[in-house]
Amino acid sequence: MNTLEKARVLGEAGKYDVCGGEICKPPTFTPGLQNLPGIIKAKSENGHFCSLLKTLYTNSCKYDCKYCANRAGGSGSGSCQKKIAQYQPEELANLFMTLVQKRIVTGLFLSSGVAGNPDKTTQGMLDTVRIIRQRYNFKGYIHFKVLPGTSYELVKQASELASRMSINVEAPSKARLSELSSVKEMNTDIIKRQSWIKKMNLRSGQTTQMIVGANDETDLEVLKMAKWEYENMNLRRIYYSAFSPVKNTPLENNKAEAKSRSNRLYNTDWLFRIYKYDFKLIREILIDGMLPSKDPKIAIAEKTITEPVDINEAGYEELIRVPGIGHVTAQNIIQMRSEKKEHKLDSKNLASCGVIIRRAAAFIKINNGTQKRLTAFS
Ligand code: SF4
Repeated sequence: MNTLEKARVLGEAGKYDVCGGEICKPPTFTPGLQNLPGIIKAKSENGHFCSLLKTLYTNSCKYDCKYCANRAGGSGSGSCQKKIAQYQPEELANLFMTLVQKRIVTGLFLSSGVAGNPDKTTQGMLDTVRIIRQRYNFKGYIHFKVLPGTSYELVKQASELASRMSINVEAPSKARLSELSSVKEMNTDIIKRQSWIKKMNLRSGQTTQMIVGANDETDLEVLKMAKWEYENMNLRRIYYSAFSPVKNTPLENNKAEAKSRSNRLYNTDWLFRIYKYDFKLIREILIDGMLPSKDPKIAIAEKTITEPVDINEAGYEELIRVPGIGHVTAQNIIQMRSEKKEHKLDSKNLASCGVIIRRAAAFIKINNGTQKRLTAFS
């Protein structure tokens, strides 16, 4: 198999790792490097989009995760997945640098199946990244996926070369993971490595991924695990990947999970990670352990905002509990109040602070009135 064929196989096989707000280009197979399936646009932490080469080092894997196209003994879906491919370090480093020089990508997301043993595969990934950093002096973004079971020494070496690292917990508990994989063990293979990475000095920290809907875990289980991970492993982000069945795997006949579920988990994650909502508030809206089908911020507001929030008096904590007011908007409101001093804010001021009126209207009070209708703001 030549390098371009490998790039197609391994780029397509890498699509199961989520790395945030991405738009994967379809695998068109038309000539031209810019059409490779592994080239994606991902949203960075500052909200800008960057192009990445997102690829596996190899799609050969000795593990048996039930949902995975690359599992041992599985042929996976799609024509690409039936072929096994593996880069040589020089080959992948040269391909990546060609894409950088042609301004097609600005960074690398490197993951892999576990061919043989985790250290052997990780060594190949490390050699690739070392060539990119040391021979080509590439200073940009490299996300390095740690394989379950990799030794401390290799994880440490990777941390000295990567911008960000991640190891996927995949499931919300040790028991749930064992339902999906007979080989991976949550504490020894994954959490232990996260705790090593936590102590290493990474420019962009560490992240993880959980698959939702591959078994019958509840949102409460997922969110409790997320909370634990943020508090104990110092994660920058958790990605929630909605399960999608892959042909020729044990879960091929299971129903695909709705994207709306992972979107609700992202929204709820934002509430406790960024807005620092007490977890008790999130528990309040769960029904049989599941989030309601509406926006969780609105569901919490409906349950807990018993009196309309006075925009001219409320503190930051109270303001950000109002749907349609985010943390920048809350700061704008407080800033504008201090500039206007004795003059109260009116509805026009709110709009200019960034309040999304149609979301906030039912929960706020201005000049002693609750704004129930949008027309009150016109
Ligand atoms: S370890 Fe990764 S590549 Fe291997 S079967 Fe599990 S999810 Fe797939």
